[in-house]
Amino acid sequence: MHGQMMDQPLLISGIIDHAARYHGDTEVVSVNIDGSRHRSTYQDIRTRSLKLGAALLKRGLKRSDRVATIAWNNFRHLELYYGVSGVGLVCHTVNPRLFPEQLVYIMGHAEDRVVFFDRTFLPLVDGLRDKLPLVETWILMEAHDADLAKDRDWLEFYEDFIAEGSDDLNWPNDIEELDASSLCYTSGTTGHPKGVLYSHRSTLLHAMMSATPDVMGFSARDCMVPVVPMFHVNAWGSPYSAVLAGSKLVLPGPNLDGKSLVELFNDEKVTISAGVPTIWAGLIQYLEDSGTKLPHLDRTVIGGSACPPTMIEKFRNTYKVDVLHAWGMTEMSPLGTVNNLKNKHLELDEEAQNEIRLSQGRPPFGMELGIFDDDANQLPNDGEAQGDLYCRGPWVLSDYYLADKGTTLTKGWFPTGDVATLDEDGFMQIRDRSKDIIKSGGEWISSVDLENHAMAHPDVADAAVISARHEKWDERPLLVVVRKEGSTTDAQAFLDFYNGKVAKWWIPDAVQFVDEIPRNATGKVRKNLLREEYGELLIGKQ
Ligand code: AMP
Repeated sequence: MHGQMMDQPLLISGIIDHAARYHGDTEVVSVNIDGSRHRSTYQDIRTRSLKLGAALLKRGLKRSDRVATIAWNNFRHLELYYGVSGVGLVCHTVNPRLFPEQLVYIMGHAEDRVVFFDRTFLPLVDGLRDKLPLVETWILMEAHDADLAKDRDWLEFYEDFIAEGSDDLNWPNDIEELDASSLCYTSGTTGHPKGVLYSHRSTLLHAMMSATPDVMGFSARDCMVPVVPMFHVNAWGSPYSAVLAGSKLVLPGPNLDGKSLVELFNDEKVTISAGVPTIWAGLIQYLEDSGTKLPHLDRTVIGGSACPPTMIEKFRNTYKVDVLHAWGMTEMSPLGTVNNLKNKHLELDEEAQNEIRLSQGRPPFGMELGIFDDDANQLPNDGEAQGDLYCRGPWVLSDYYLADKGTTLTKGWFPTGDVATLDEDGFMQIRDRSKDIIKSGGEWISSVDLENHAMAHPDVADAAVISARHEKWDERPLLVVVRKEGSTTDAQAFLDFYNGKVAKWWIPDAVQFVDEIPRNATGKVRKNLLREEYGELLIGKQ
């Protein structure tokens, strides 16, 4: 017997409908590229999203076609989130920090038909256009600019485009909750970047759980700033979860330096934010230099890389801001764990509580974690046993986009590539990473690519690239080289060899010469040994 309740699908359009209906005058503040602030409301965002969606359908886009964005966190990007998914298309957020060849691969693989982009990325788009024959329409996210249009007959403008959509509209009524809604590529794997295709249902479940008190705890009294970019796993879902709660939303645009953020936080009375440790390091530096305080900020979610203990302490003790250390992945929408204490921990002394706060936290309802040994035996949740971290849940991917079915999961679990401990309360601590990839300031660098380039150098006999700890960027690549016999080529020459082959920020920070690269019986580099030996080499370096 089925229950007798309404069968209403969980759709992304439902979030903006609710926000417009009951929080219609709640503000959405957006920082423009020139630093000025644009102010609108959820009512405005809904109306303009509908027009945008209708204009896309008028151009002949069909259900589940991909529409790309290359954009900062701003109000038009928010309209794209709702307008594109709302009419049954897939919003593909592209990370502009990737090397152009990777962008061509990703956008070609996704078969994007329309691309919306911010003015900052016009030079990038000028270079990409010829290489992406499937893109029919390029739209600059601004009002009409006759000067720009003069030399570019292919260029369209956002405000002209949405004017094509009629005012008197509603969302299509045949979209199903399992339909695809958005697409995000991750470079956090070996080989080409891989796409993760979210559904309306996975997005809604993730957003609803994110808004609960032990996760991000959004309310209609909050003012939220996603500092994490909207091209990084949908800004960790906050443009959905904060909106469904009716929080005021502030979108910071391109200027994410400490001064710009502190001014924005204080002017707009921001209560909660989210971002990677590198951003918060810059913000704390500015607070210390300027003597400014954060009177309104209540808490901030820090994740994407391990949050250093000193950062948690400083935020809590000096600035009275609670830190919610969180862990997640593109493949998990992204939230896996968030650190919030339990009732029983409130009786512990400050020091013991702080100890618990250092871990990556515990999973909310909807997320299951397990650790496994090399023979796929599940290990105990005792806080001691360390193993490969696997997860499963309704907002975890089942397959990568267009990958062969059944090639992503292991016995129904997603292998994260992280190595962790889990305690009896579900608190998870990342201990290491088994995947061969480096995370610098929240962005991935492929050690395999860097090694392949190094091996092509005529004076390299053997090489490995490891992740070394770095105070500002969390991790940076370090090139370990065995020179060919008789070679005296210096470190700089090996680093210069990367010029033009990889993005500048991928080039290793230093070279360590060795006599031999340690390998195991099957020839794999024993990176843990190299990390033990050289992993701290960059500490104290800029
Ligand atoms: P991404 O898919 O780009 O979001 O990256 C996910 C990966 O970032 C995870 O598999 C971890 O290796 C790393 N990561 C994310 N959050 C944390 C954290 N709080 N502590 C340590 N590593 C993290």
